[in-house]
Amino acid sequence: MLYSTRRYEAFEREFACEPGAGQVLVQNGYLFLYEDPARAADPATAATRWDAAKANVAMQRAAGLRDVELLDAAQTDARFVHVDASKLIGATFCPSDGFLRPDVIYMEGFRRVEELGGVVRQNEPVTAGVFDSRDLLVGVRTGRGAEVRADLFIDATNAWSPRLSETLHAEVLPISALKRYLYFLQRGPSLTGQQLRDMPMTITPRRAYCRPENEDQLLLGWAHDSPAQDDFDWADQDVIEPPFFHKSGLENYGTALWMELADSMPPLMEFDGLRATTAGFYAVTPDHNPYLGFNPRQPRLLHAVGFSGHGAMMGPFTAAAATAMALAGQTLHSIELDGRTVDLAALRVGRTAKRSEGMVI
Ligand SMILES: Cc1cc2nc3c(=O)[nH]c(=O)nc-3n(C[C@H](O)[C@H](O)[C@H](O)COP(=O)(O)OP(=O)(O)OC[C@H]3O[C@@H](n4cnc5c(N)ncnc54)[C@H](O)[C@@H]3O)c2cc1C
Repeated sequence: MLYSTRRYEAFEREFACEPGAGQVLVQNGYLFLYEDPARAADPATAATRWDAAKANVAMQRAAGLRDVELLDAAQTDARFVHVDASKLIGATFCPSDGFLRPDVIYMEGFRRVEELGGVVRQNEPVTAGVFDSRDLLVGVRTGRGAEVRADLFIDATNAWSPRLSETLHAEVLPISALKRYLYFLQRGPSLTGQQLRDMPMTITPRRAYCRPENEDQLLLGWAHDSPAQDDFDWADQDVIEPPFFHKSGLENYGTALWMELADSMPPLMEFDGLRATTAGFYAVTPDHNPYLGFNPRQPRLLHAVGFSGHGAMMGPFTAAAATAMALAGQTLHSIELDGRTVDLAALRVGRTAKRSEGMVI
C-alpha cells in the first residue's frame, strides 16, 4: 500500500496530465475510533479491538508506515473537532491515508493509454473464447462480433471473473459478489464547508465510516451481512433494495448508519439529511485478498481479480505485480518494488486461506 500511495501521489506526472487535472489522491487521513471498555456495552469486545488496534499500529510501523499514530481519548478530542471522545479509549490516525478520485483515474488513464498507442474498446464484453486443438485459449470473441487473438489475456473483471473463467474454459476462482451501499449526507450548520472538506475518513467503533465528498456532502458506508449474489446481471449492481433506500421511511439502513455516525460525531446530528443512495458489488474471496497469477488450466490467462472491497488502493501495486508476471510469462512468488522484495504468497491462485485480511471495511 505504501507503494500504491507513492504512485498515486505521482499520478499527475506519470500520466502526463494537464497541470492540476491529475490530483487523484486526497490525503486527509484515516481516523479509527475505539470504545472505552469501561463504558462499552460489551467490554470484552471493546478491549480486544483496542488491543488489535495497538498491534496493527506496531505492524504498520514495522512495515514502513511511520506516520501512523496511536492517540488517547484526550488527544483525539483535542485534534478532531467533529468527534465526541467521551466514550472512547482512543484512536489510530494515519495522515497519509486518503481517498481517491476514480473518475479522474479512469478518464486520465484512458487518455494516456490512447496517447501511448493502446486501443480502448468500451461496451464490448468478451463473450466467448477461441481455443486450439488442446482446448487452450488463443483468442476471444466480443459482443460486437470481433475476434481478438493474443499471447496473453489479463482477466481484470473482478466480480465477473467466475463467469468469464467458465466462458474461457479456465479454472473458476472462488469469488463472490456481495452488495454494498453508500449514502450521501447533506451538510448542516454545525460544521463549515471548510471543516467538512478537511475531515479525515472517520471510522466508528462499530465500523461505520464517513468521509467528505466535497464541501457540502459526506459519503457514508457500513458493511452488513449480505448473501452472495453470484448470478447477478449487469443491472443488479445499481439496484437499491427498499430496506437500504434512504427514502424508505425511517427504518432504512441509511438512516441507521447516519445515527450510528452521529453517536461518535455529534455535529452530524444537525446535518440536513440523506440525499442519495448508491450501490456496488464487492468481489469477495475467502480471505479478502485478491488473486494475482496465471490460471492453472489456461497458461495464457493472467488473473488480477477478487479485490474484496480494497481494489482501488491496491491499483498501482496490482499493475506492478501483473506487469512483472506478464513479462515473465509465469506466476511469480515475489517481486521487487522500490528496492524491497514483496512476497506474493498471500495472493497466489489456488492458495488455502489460513489468515484473512482484517482491515477491510
Ligand atoms: C460500495 C463500495 C465501496 C468501495 N470502497 C473502496 C475503498 O474505499 N477503497 C478501495 O480500495 N476499494 C473500494 N471498493 C472496491 C473497489 O471499487 C474495487 O476493488 C475496484 O473497483 C476493483 O477494480 P477492478 O478494475 O479490478 O474491477 P471493476 O472496477 O469491478 O471492473 C471490472 C470491469 O470488468 C468488466 N467486465 C465484466 N465482464 C466482462 C467481460 N466479459 N468482458 C469485458 N469486460 C468485462 C466490467 O464491466 C467492469 O468494468 C469499493 C467498492 C464498493 C462496491
